[in-house]
Amino acid sequence: MRNTLYILILFLSFEGRTQELDIGIMRDYTLGTVQISHLEGNYEIMGDTSLITNIWDGQSLFIKRSGEQLKVVKADKTIGFYDSLSIRSMAEDNSLKLQFLAPSSKKTRRYKDDFILTPEGANTMRIINRVEMKNYLGGVIESEGGGGKHLEYYKVQAILSRTYVLGHLYKHRKEGFQVCDRVHCQAYQNMLIHTPKIADAVEATRGVVMLNKSLRLAQGFYFANCGGQTSESDFVWNESVSHCKSIIDTFCIKSRQANWIKEINASDWKNYLVSHFGYPVNDPVLGPMMYNFSQPSRKAFYQYPQLGIPLRDLRIKFRLKSTWFSCKKVGNKVVLTGKGFGHGVGVCQEGAMGMARNGFTAAQIMNFYFTNIHLMNYFNWSFYKQKDFEEEPSF
Ligand SMILES: [Zn+2]
Ligand SMILES: [Zn+2]
Repeated sequence: MRNTLYILILFLSFEGRTQELDIGIMRDYTLGTVQISHLEGNYEIMGDTSLITNIWDGQSLFIKRSGEQLKVVKADKTIGFYDSLSIRSMAEDNSLKLQFLAPSSKKTRRYKDDFILTPEGANTMRIINRVEMKNYLGGVIESEGGGGKHLEYYKVQAILSRTYVLGHLYKHRKEGFQVCDRVHCQAYQNMLIHTPKIADAVEATRGVVMLNKSLRLAQGFYFANCGGQTSESDFVWNESVSHCKSIIDTFCIKSRQANWIKEINASDWKNYLVSHFGYPVNDPVLGPMMYNFSQPSRKAFYQYPQLGIPLRDLRIKFRLKSTWFSCKKVGNKVVLTGKGFGHGVGVCQEGAMGMARNGFTAAQIMNFYFTNIHLMNYFNWSFYKQKDFEEEPSF
């Protein structure tokens, strides 16, 4: 009984925990001057270690890189020069609008929660958005996927994005934050604005992450459309990922991006195959096959593996939508008939949307596209990992 109570208390305390993340934002730009304007709640601004001002309804601040410091201007008055600024939210829901004005004027962005600004390099500043996990995930899912999709589909995205960020908490440690807002981490261009259903999906999957068969965080790769079959991971990355195996998928084959056709000059095709891979043009069998290739199910190599021509190289060179194509020569062109869009490893987004529309749950969708995975609460998992560690024999 006492144990049950203990576990219950533990569980409740884990569930109640909120997690903050430090996200490097606007990393694609040089930030000489930034205007920060109030949207919701209210904010205190700390310059180094003292409170210098607040931002309330309708107010804004201009922050400029000035020498080695940041200059803060409010209502045309200079407040001061600081080594670091901390913008702290003081109410329940807080958000700010950030617009960079110099050296070039770019689009406005909106973010929730707190900010830390410091000078960086010779002429820019580093802006960290210290944001609650749920607010970050909402922004990521909307930035990456847009609106109008089914709740169960958004739940899949929420679990994959949460797993990604928790698996990469040290990725940008040297720069002073955890992950950045660029696509190579996860696109995070704004807070969640237009799609309340995304917030519901984040809340409904609160804390849930995806683990592989070794109970480690499993990266949730995804792409637009598989064309009817997903790809083995080693076809794409030379590396086998245990939870990403090729599967047959009929949920996406009627979607917009399931089929494609592309024509390429036969001379370009030949030049590339010969110059990069030494294609044996004079071989009596292989020579005539140079332009003709059939791929009824996904393969890793053009013609025969022994020729060493990875389909992924052809995809990059000729900007193909996928590696899953067949081709033949028509006149002086090679006509490629292909299926799918994207690298093909992991979740097929259009297939997952089709499953969600047909009544499958997020867990069913994830177990369809991934192999031997477990869905588990991150804090419970961390607790068990900690326990493993403590009980590890010390020899
Ligand atoms: Zn990054
Ligand atoms: Zn598919």
